[in-house]
Amino acid sequence: MSRIPLIAGNWKMFKTVDETVKYVKELRGLVKDIQGVEIVLAPPFTALHPAAEAARNSNVAVAAQDMFWEREGAFTGEISAHMIREAGAEFVIIGHSERRTLFGETNTTVNRKVLAAFAAGLVPIACIGETLDQRERGETFDVLDRQVQQGLDGVSAERIGQLVIAYEPVWAIGTGRTATSDQAQEAHAHIRSRLRQWFGPEAAEACHVIYGGSVKPDNIRDLIVQPDVDGALVGGASLDIRGFAEIVTKSRASAA
Ligand code: PEP
Repeated sequence: MSRIPLIAGNWKMFKTVDETVKYVKELRGLVKDIQGVEIVLAPPFTALHPAAEAARNSNVAVAAQDMFWEREGAFTGEISAHMIREAGAEFVIIGHSERRTLFGETNTTVNRKVLAAFAAGLVPIACIGETLDQRERGETFDVLDRQVQQGLDGVSAERIGQLVIAYEPVWAIGTGRTATSDQAQEAHAHIRSRLRQWFGPEAAEACHVIYGGSVKPDNIRDLIVQPDVDGALVGGASLDIRGFAEIVTKSRASAA
């Protein structure tokens, strides 16, 4: 497998500028010798630029947690992909389940954001995943199919190869309940088979499909060894620098 594991920390609405700079400076020291893992941190918007400055010339990259699809204009409260790129971020999380559930995001808005992110030179981390009800009704694959098909409509095969898809079962986010490694592998393999069908084998092989949902130092190893699990989107556990560094380290060791 040629995909390098990618571990991204989603801090949600946690950490001030001060806390962010301290964290990034310490983390870059802890992971400076780690090769073969892409490390990404997603602080709140206010800390994006300080995080990028603190991570400059290191193996830690920065992501925004959301964006708006227009470049500029009368959109009070919104931030564009162009602004995020200029602040020093290279990635942007799009369509996180909290954005879908609490802020009305849909596959259509996800699609507009994914297209705009690529146009601005950002790598989207596009989040998909089923709710517990949907899983229990046996609708998981249908839900994932709609999220992939509609969310990635109009994206070229070349860009699919650069994309990161985060499979995050909603029932596993922030609940302490992780999908089993078999459940994760099954969903990831399904997503990759659809990418192969809709965008071609090369794009499907190059696209990172990472797992999110209560990932911790003690469960990353079981997940990362699955052939279609290419890394993790880590929420709560990424707030603790030692825990996050351990997840990064274990991803590399397991992948080798
Ligand atoms: C997330 O926020 O994407 C996430 C997976 O959160 P947690 O790891 O806390 O479940």
